[in-house]
Amino acid sequence: MSANDEPSIFTRIVAREVPADVVFENDRIIAFRDIAPKAPLHLLVVPKTEAYRNVTELAAGDPALLAELVATAQQLADEHSDGEFRLVFNTGPSAGQTVFHVHAHLLGGQLSEGTLGH
Ligand code: AMP
Repeated sequence: MSANDEPSIFTRIVAREVPADVVFENDRIIAFRDIAPKAPLHLLVVPKTEAYRNVTELAAGDPALLAELVATAQQLADEHSDGEFRLVFNTGPSAGQTVFHVHAHLLGGQLSEGTLGH
């Protein structure tokens, strides 16, 4: 649960309370298309647990899950693009984080430098 005890938007997607274009799911990770894509391929790769608010907490708390998330990103980039990708973890509001349930932005296709500033 997040600080206000409301499930995050991503937990609601996992529960199918909110619709999403899900492209991958296993027991620990879900991936779906970002609703506001910033690149030809823009997926969110998300641990199902919302125990970790950001990648720093995930790395400290469950490094194996972080490694699985990166491997999943590679698999999805292979399946949906040319296997090359940018993985972005916005960490903190001033870095653009709006959902405090750790997630990776998987960006692929023809990326401009500006995409870094997602
Ligand atoms: P961040 O700003 O790094 O926290 O990323 C949150 C991302 O979630 C943004 O890129 C949003 O476009 C995306 N997003 C928010 N709600 C949804 C939704 N219902 N389905 C898909 N993507 C969403």
